[in-house]
Amino acid sequence: MPISYRQQILCKVAESCRIVTMSNKVLLELAVKARQNAIAPYSGFCVGAALRATDGSIYTGCNIENSTLGLTICAERVALLKALSEGKRQFERISIVTDTETLTPPCGACRQLLWEFCGNIEVELANLHGKSETRTMLELLPLPFDSRSIG
Ligand SMILES: [Zn+2]
Repeated sequence: MPISYRQQILCKVAESCRIVTMSNKVLLELAVKARQNAIAPYSGFCVGAALRATDGSIYTGCNIENSTLGLTICAERVALLKALSEGKRQFERISIVTDTETLTPPCGACRQLLWEFCGNIEVELANLHGKSETRTMLELLPLPFDSRSIG
C-alpha cells in the first residue's frame, strides 16, 4: 500500500531529525576527543570544544595554558579561531565538554566572541559522564555588546 503524502512528509521530518541528532552526537564525541589534547599543567582543568558550521564542517579546540597564565586560551576560542581562519563565517552549534559534575558554561570572553561571530547558536554543555544540556547564546549572553552597540 502506498504511503500518503502526509506520511512521506513525516518520514522526511523524522529522517532529518535523526540526521541532526546523529550529527549532534558526533559533534559531542569530537569535543570529547579534542579535550584529550588540552594543555592544562597549571589548572588540571581540561576542556574540549567542537564547533559546527552551517555547511556541516566541524572545528575542534582544547584549552591551552602557558606559564603566563594570562595568555591561556579556552577550547571554545581555539575552535572558533580555527574555523574563522579557514574562512568559515556561518555556524549553528558548539559542544563544550569538561570533566566536572556541574556543567561548565563558556567564560565571558568566549561568550563575547561566540556571540559576535556565531550569533544565537546552540551551545551544548556536557561532561564525560553523559550529562548535557543545550542553551542558546542569547540565554548565555542576554544583553550582548556587539557592533550595534557602537553605532
Ligand atoms: Zn573561555
